[in-house]
Amino acid sequence: MWPQFAEQADKEGWPAARFLAAITEHELAERDRRRIERHLAEARLLPGKTLDTFAFEAVPMISKAQVMAITAGDSWLEKGANLLLFGPPGGGKSHLASAIGLALIENGWRVLFTRTTDLVQKLQTARRDLALENALAKLDKFHLLILDDLAYVTKDQAETSVLFELISARYERRSMLITANQPFGEWGKVFPDPAMTLAAVDRLVHHATIFEMNVESYRRREAMERKRGPGRPASYATSANSVAD
Ligand code: ADP
Ligand code: MG
Repeated sequence: MWPQFAEQADKEGWPAARFLAAITEHELAERDRRRIERHLAEARLLPGKTLDTFAFEAVPMISKAQVMAITAGDSWLEKGANLLLFGPPGGGKSHLASAIGLALIENGWRVLFTRTTDLVQKLQTARRDLALENALAKLDKFHLLILDDLAYVTKDQAETSVLFELISARYERRSMLITANQPFGEWGKVFPDPAMTLAAVDRLVHHATIFEMNVESYRRREAMERKRGPGRPASYATSANSVAD
């Protein structure tokens, strides 16, 4: 870019210091942009799920201001605290998780979004190859690991302890955002034995914010609204903004 800047500098008679500052600022901004682009590519977020498209009025138990504070990151990612999202299917857990991930990346953090079963499968393979420790260490570069649908870990996957190893390895160092249909009740099926389940839950909740999204399926509500036709208020709309707009 420097010839363009030089031409402008010559034309407008910039002092040398101003010319240097201008090209340096440009380079720094460009590096920031490329870094965020790289972080977005590695994060595997759900496409199109943003906080802008998330209807907070559909989940009145969640404060938008609190979510916005969470997207700054510093208050929790620096100490490896966790975020747990619970609620029935269709309630917006994956959407909200991915959207929080996106906002954190835009604020300079590194995030990985993965279905829990996919990651468990990868870690199991690594363990078989005696490379589990290495695989866990590689995940350290992510300030936040989003594990979507924890309770969907299958029976044969639950017979290994890789998920527990992951939780232990990140405890008080690196954050996790976990979504699940059931708060803890079903987790006995996810870990090899009750003692390990207890130990995993204990570590996860020690420093955690918990959102219980006990709302009806967003898709189903939308379908019901469509069926009922226009002009009727959305049943869940607790504020002036209707989700349907
Ligand atoms: P969950 O992960 O809890 O099963 P999802 O996040 O997959 O639910 O949500 C199901 C669908 O409904 C997705 O397409 C999602 O974008 C949409 N959705 C859910 N809740 C909301 C919301 N509050 N605002 C906008 N879209 C939503
Ligand atoms: Mg989901």
